[in-house]
Amino acid sequence: RVLDDIQREYAAYDEARRSAISLYERGLKDEASAALESNHARTQHFWSLFRSFGGLAKADAESRLADAQRNVRWLGRVLVATSIAGALASLLVGFWWARRITKPIYELAVRLESAAERTRIQISPTRGGLDALGDQIAALVTKVEETDAALVEHRQRLVQTEKLSAIGELSAKLAHEILNPLAGMKAALQLMTREGPSESVSSAVLEVATALNREVTRVEGLVRRLVNYSRPLALRIEVVTIEELLRSALEAARRTLDAHAVTVTVKEEAGLPPVEVDPLLIAQVLVNLLTNAAQALAPTGGAVEVAARSVVVLGRREVAIEVADKGPGIPQSVLPNLFKPFFTTKPDGHGLGLALSQNIILEHGGRIAARTLPAEVGGGAAFEIQLPFVR
Ligand code: ADP
Repeated sequence: RVLDDIQREYAAYDEARRSAISLYERGLKDEASAALESNHARTQHFWSLFRSFGGLAKADAESRLADAQRNVRWLGRVLVATSIAGALASLLVGFWWARRITKPIYELAVRLESAAERTRIQISPTRGGLDALGDQIAALVTKVEETDAALVEHRQRLVQTEKLSAIGELSAKLAHEILNPLAGMKAALQLMTREGPSESVSSAVLEVATALNREVTRVEGLVRRLVNYSRPLALRIEVVTIEELLRSALEAARRTLDAHAVTVTVKEEAGLPPVEVDPLLIAQVLVNLLTNAAQALAPTGGAVEVAARSVVVLGRREVAIEVADKGPGIPQSVLPNLFKPFFTTKPDGHGLGLALSQNIILEHGGRIAARTLPAEVGGGAAFEIQLPFVR
C-alpha cells in the first residue's frame, strides 16, 4: 500500500514537474516557479512516504529475520529432540537385542557351570566372559569324549569279564573232572617208575610210563593254568614305586633271562609318581613280557630294553612301561590274536601268558598293547602297559 502511495505521489510529482517545465518553456516564468514551489511540498510528502516505506521495509525485514531465527531455533530443538528420541530408541532396541543374545548365553553359562560342577571340570579362572564360556564348552566336550572312550573301554572290560566268568565256570568243572583222575594216573605212573625195571615192568614199559608221566604233568599244568587264568582276580592293592615294580620283576625273571643270555637295560624317567597296584600281579605281567622277549631272542640271546615314562591318557597322567626286544617282531596276521587265550605260535607254548597279562592290566584300569618296531630302529617287538598313577 505504501508503495502504491509512493507510485501515485511520484506520478503526480512528475506530472507537476512536466507542467512547470512547459510553463517555463512558454515563458510563463512566475507560474512555472509557483508550480515548482507547490511541487516542492509534494516532494517533501513523497520523501516522507519514502522514508516511512524504508522504516516499514526495515521492520518487515527484521520481523522476517526474527521469524527465520525462530524457525531455526525450532528446527534445532526438533533436531535435538529427534536425536534424543532416536538415541533412546536405539538404546532400547539395542538393549532388547542384547538381552535376546545374552539371555541364552547366560542360561548356557549357568547350565555349563552346574554341569562342570557335577563333572568336576576345572576351568581356568583367569579368563572371563565369552572366553570362559568357550573354555567351559571345550572342557565339557573333552570330558564327554573322555567319558565316551572310558565307556568303550569299560564295555570291553565287561565283555572280557563275562567271557572269563563263563570260561571260569566251565574250567572249574573240567578241572575237577580232569585233575582227579590225572592225580590217580600220576600216582600210579610214579609208583611204576620209582621201582625201576623189574620182572613185571620191562624197561620199554618204563620208558613209556616216564613219557606218560611227563605228558600227564604237562596236561595237569595246563589245566591249572586255565583255572588260574579264568579265576576272578582278587587284587591286593599297594602303593609302590615304578622302581620297586621293575626291580622285583627283573629279580623274578633273572633265571630265565640268564638262561637265554639276555641282558636288560632299564630307563626310568626321573620323578615318576608311585602307582596303586597289586605288585605281585604286575610283576607277573612284566615277567611274562620279559620271558616272551627272551624266547623271541632265542637261540642267540641279546638285549631287551625296559623303559618307564609318564604319559597322558584320556586326560589323566599314567605310567607307560615298555618291554622291547630285537627279535623277529610280530607278524601282521598274529597281532589281532596276541591276547586271545590259548593263542600261541610256540611248539610248547600254552597261549595264556598275554591273555592273563591283559586281564591283570585291565583289572587295574590300565591298558596293554603290542607293536612291531620298524626295521630302521633294528626291528623287534615292543609291549607297552599303561597304569594310572596314585591320584
Ligand atoms: P605263549 O608264550 O605261551 O605262546 P603268550 O600269550 O605269552 O603265550 O604269547 C602268545 C604269542 O604271542 C606267542 O606265541 C608269540 O607268537 C607272540 N609273542 C609274544 N611275545 C612276543 C615277542 N616278544 N615277540 C614276538 N612274538 C611274541
